[in-house]
Amino acid sequence: MTKAERDKRYQQSEKGKEAQKKKNAKYRHSQNGKEVTKKSTYSWIARNVELFKSRCDDYRKSKHGKEIFRIKTQRYRARKASLPATLTLDEWNDILDNQDNVCAICGISFDKVRPTQDHITPVSKGGAYIKENIQALCGSCNSRKSNK
Ligand SMILES: [Zn+2]
Repeated sequence: MTKAERDKRYQQSEKGKEAQKKKNAKYRHSQNGKEVTKKSTYSWIARNVELFKSRCDDYRKSKHGKEIFRIKTQRYRARKASLPATLTLDEWNDILDNQDNVCAICGISFDKVRPTQDHITPVSKGGAYIKENIQALCGSCNSRKSNK
């Protein structure tokens, strides 16, 4: 067996594949690798603008995308008002868990209606976008509250 054949066999073996994967991951995390990945991502986007846009739209419309988008918007609002904004999607899920997945005011189950994020102390009164100041309300309780 020649060296080339041995190398090829090693590359196709489980062990070889693992080693290659590790090498790739290490490269991607290196400064140089990050640059190259970024460049190739950007050039892919430049070549596939429409596809990229439609994928973004799909993502924004997906359940996970919507949650992330909402959290980003809220964080932006809080930052603009110079308030702390640290709520993460995990913390929001914790809040829902702690409330047994029901509205904090009327107790309707969030299996039936979509939960909305309510600032216990409103942003206008300096309420931050943090775990301690956010509760989950159903849409109608939330709009009733904000109309007051
Ligand atoms: Zn409610």
